[in-house]
Order: sequence, then structure tokens, then C-alpha cells
Amino acid sequence: MIEYENLRSVNKPFFEEYIKSFKDTLESGWYILGENVKKFENEFANYLNSPNCIGVASGLDALILSLKAFDFEKESEVIVPSNTYIATILSILHCGLKPVLVEPDIRTYNIDPTRIEEKISQRTKAIMAVHLYGKPCEMDPILNICNKYNLKLIEDCAQSHGAKYKNKMTGTFGAFGAFSFYPTKNLGALGDAGSIITNDANLAIAIRRLRNYGSDLKYYNELIGFNSRLDEVQAGFLSVKLKKLDAINNHKRKLAQIYFDNLKDDFIKPHIDKNFFDVYHIFNIRHEKRDDLKDYLLKNGIKTDIHYPVPPHKQKAMKEIITEKNFPISEEIHRTTLSLPISYSHTEDDISKVIEIMNMF
Ligand SMILES: *Cc1c(COP(=O)(O)O)cnc(C)c1O
Repeated sequence: MIEYENLRSVNKPFFEEYIKSFKDTLESGWYILGENVKKFENEFANYLNSPNCIGVASGLDALILSLKAFDFEKESEVIVPSNTYIATILSILHCGLKPVLVEPDIRTYNIDPTRIEEKISQRTKAIMAVHLYGKPCEMDPILNICNKYNLKLIEDCAQSHGAKYKNKMTGTFGAFGAFSFYPTKNLGALGDAGSIITNDANLAIAIRRLRNYGSDLKYYNELIGFNSRLDEVQAGFLSVKLKKLDAINNHKRKLAQIYFDNLKDDFIKPHIDKNFFDVYHIFNIRHEKRDDLKDYLLKNGIKTDIHYPVPPHKQKAMKEIITEKNFPISEEIHRTTLSLPISYSHTEDDISKVIEIMNMF
């Protein structure tokens, strides 16, 4: 059996260092906003070439706090891709704002910059660009639109740790880059965790307050904040894993190349272009008979996954919220996409085996 992903195997190379890190944290007696969080924030900021990183409790919170920092008027509109993971849309709703969905490019699965302007209104305040599957969005046209209409840019980097567009790290283009360290992500913790990066020192101060009850100084509250802190134990684990993030990404890129070189053309493979340094959080293909293919692979001992089976506008929770229902590109992706094994613990032989069986479909 080739699993889609086994987190125990992915984390196995780090067990000893994790245990040491845990022991040190336990012994320190300091469990919230201590040295580990400060250290990881510095390391991750350096990795991304960003001046500020603020650890928070999850990727969803990273998105929510980023929006909160702008304090947009209620009912302001935020542009978001129609095929994103639901969390991006939830962050907009939790801030009392209105998500405006824009279809993706069928080649890149990321927001189609040519479809953004038609969705901009007087109330549009921000664009949330999601670097889905570990592929950066086409940033140049998105940045041009943000400048032209004076919109804030927030990047959802939950799937793009270390991915680059024109040699620049995702997360560093907008006002904020929001990261998740959910265990399956390329940089995954052993529980929930997230962070926000920003070039703007004042926004960094706002986020530090927002994550901690609106406070800089204990018991003095500057604004209406949250409790959304990266915890010391997870920060310790993340420092261990960050040292191997490039190795993880390079491993995934090497496995992706084996797919590109050997999978037959019946399967629609991810788009590649020299401007994009993709980190393959997910390696998807598309096929008309996706469900049959998935069953066939399972019968032959290969587990796959689907990201995602249901588009946001068809989710029950969104029934009365996303009233526009015409998203054919999104629906096409959700109907045909299949995610293949590509984790840090998969070997080149595993991938060759997947390809051999797929090519007989
Ligand atoms: C995982 C993910 C999130 C949410 O991250 P959590 O840490 O699970 O809250 C947000 N956006 C995208 C695109 C994701 O993949």
C-alpha cells in the first residue's frame, strides 16, 4: 500500500530533536510567548526575507487577524478565488465582510487576474491571493490592480511555504502573508499553529496586539483583541523543522519532476513556468474519469486525495452567503482533480510505482 500521506513517517526524521525541544520547553517553565516563539519568529522572518513575523494559533487566525488589522467598514468587499479552501472565505465572514468570488485560471488553479477587475466595486477593499497547491499566484497583474484601485493585498500562504514568484518569496508581496503550520503543510507542526509576516512595522505592532487580547503590556488593553498565540511547544518543533524546509520542498519538487517526466499525457498535469518556483504542497492531475481513476488506484494499493471535492459556493454553510452560483471553472476543477502521493516520506520508487499503475489506466 502506498499511502497518500503518513505524518508519523514524515516526522520520523525529527523525533529526537522534537523530544529534546519538548524537554527543554517543559523544563523552562515558560509556556506562552517565551523564547521559543521569539526564536521561531526571527528564523521564519529571515527565511522569508521579511522584517516581521508574528506567531498565531492557526492559519485561519492568521487570515482573520490580517483582515482585522485594517478595521474595514462592515460590508466591505474582499476578492477571493472561487476554488480556495474554505478557510480563506471564513476569515472574511468572521470579520463581518463580504467575500466576492473570482474564478481561477484553469491552467494554474490560482485566481485569474484578468477576471478581477469586473468584480471590483466601490466597496472593494482588499484582495486575498491564495497560492494554492504550493504554486504562487501571478503576482505582477494582481499588484497592478491593487495599486490602480488602492486595494490591500493579503496572501494566503497556507500551502506555499518557500514558494517563489520571480525569485521572491510568497507572503512578501502584500501587506500580509498568512501561514498555516497545520501538520500536513510543507512546514507542519504537531498541532495547530500559524504566523503572519508583514513588511510594515506598524501593522506588525497591530497584529502583536490583536493576537494577545489587544495588549502590549499585561492588563493594559489598546484594542479589542483575541487570544491567538503560537504556543511555545509548537514553536520549538517548528524551529526544528524549518531547518529542513528547503530539503522538504526540494524532495517534493524532485518527486514532481518524476511525475512530469513519466506520467502519460491522458492526465492533465500542473502548469509549469520559469517565473514560478512551486513547492507542491499538493501535486494534482485532472482527468474526466477522476472517480473511476481514484477507485482503480485504491484497488491497486495507492491512496489519493481530492482537494477539494466540493467548491465553496456549493457548501451547505455558504448557501445564503454566496448567492452567485455561476462558477464553471471552479466546478470543473473540483469535478476532475485528483491529488497524488508527494510527501517528504515518499521515495522515488513509490512515485515510479504510482506512475506505472496510473499509466495502465
Ligand atoms: C490549511 C489552509 C488554511 C487554514 O489553516 P489552518 O491552520 O488549518 O487554520 C487556510 N487557507 C488554505 C489555503 C489552507 O490550505
